[in-house]
Amino acid sequence: MIKNLKLTSIDGAKKTLVKVGAATFGKGLVVIAGPCSVESEEQFITIAKIVKELGADILRGGVFKPRTSPYAFQGLGLAGLKIMAQAREITGLPIVTEVLDTRDVTWVAEYADMLQIGARNMQNFSLLKEVGKTNRPVLLKRGMHSTIEEWLSAAEYILAEGNPNVVLCERGIRTFETYTRNTLDLSSVVAVKELTHLPVIADPSHGVGKPSLIGQMSLASVAASADGLMLEVHNNPEEALSDKDQALLPEAFGEIMKKVRGLSDYLNG
Ligand code: PEP
Ligand code: MN
Repeated sequence: MIKNLKLTSIDGAKKTLVKVGAATFGKGLVVIAGPCSVESEEQFITIAKIVKELGADILRGGVFKPRTSPYAFQGLGLAGLKIMAQAREITGLPIVTEVLDTRDVTWVAEYADMLQIGARNMQNFSLLKEVGKTNRPVLLKRGMHSTIEEWLSAAEYILAEGNPNVVLCERGIRTFETYTRNTLDLSSVVAVKELTHLPVIADPSHGVGKPSLIGQMSLASVAASADGLMLEVHNNPEEALSDKDQALLPEAFGEIMKKVRGLSDYLNG
């Protein structure tokens, strides 16, 4: 038990199911896939069709990018959202995208099926309250310097505003290790399961930052009881405008999909 958690605390055996389109977090393995950023209509629609074909449940893509440098690609904004909506039409898959600014929450929620709060904004309390006022499911990434308690307290802010549909996402924390981009803390997935009724997924792409490690860490995430995965996929990683070094090629993503579905069926079947 963690003090001061009222709405997020586990209450008996009742788990929260979060529905996004035809996908339900908390029931089977939900896979969110797509490029880090929406770069162009051609790029996003191409990747959307590929990941749909390979079995993804939800499309991801950033249109507001929280970049370390102000000179790096910042995202296409509204134009990017329109491309995502078009990809939803074509593939039938729901879309999730990050919202960075309180001023954008209402109109982004009109386009997106799920709103992502990024690691850098996990303790942006105004933003948490704002997404808590919408009726859109929220994907709440763990801050790279945040404890499990701080992460759940952030979820508590959203629930306290009246939005019960929160999915937690472990995306790696910063440690002394530099070989991997972050340290994917899979013990947090297990811990969160015993603390809260909310679903929790893992993002091995940002967690390790290296395609060669993502497959095994995806399997490890499923073994750690993650309710889903977020994976970054690009058909031409060398040309990607953000997170090019961690993008999975379609073939690698397809291989991972087969293995994680197999493991999930084995564990839950
Ligand atoms: C992302 O999903 O592309 C992203 C920026 O993630 P995070 O907030 O976990 O760094
Ligand atoms: Mn990314």
